[in-house]
Amino acid sequence: MYLEEFVTALSGESVETAVSEGRCLAEPIGCGESTVDENGNLEYDSDDPTDEVWYSLDWQMTGLCPACQDELDEPDDYLAAPSEEAIETAVSLLDLWTELEPDDDSE
Ligand SMILES: [Zn+2]
Repeated sequence: MYLEEFVTALSGESVETAVSEGRCLAEPIGCGESTVDENGNLEYDSDDPTDEVWYSLDWQMTGLCPACQDELDEPDDYLAAPSEEAIETAVSLLDLWTELEPDDDSE
């Protein structure tokens, strides 16, 4: 499953929709708030103009407004990039889950 599909399944809407409407993804992924001010400029909490570029790029990729991006980044840095161990665990859980599915060939 692609991330895009995953997000759509979880929030009931696509990143594309949220971005085209100038807002954050609906809860529980985002906050559903508008990400642009009345002039159509991206609203972000930083004095560094280069941050706007990154926030804007991230928003278009993830559908998350700058505030939600900050929330994801701040608490635990290691959560942002899953470790190989975490990925392996997820993969093995998926394997297990697949094995648990009923097999049509077995009587
Ligand atoms: Zn948000």
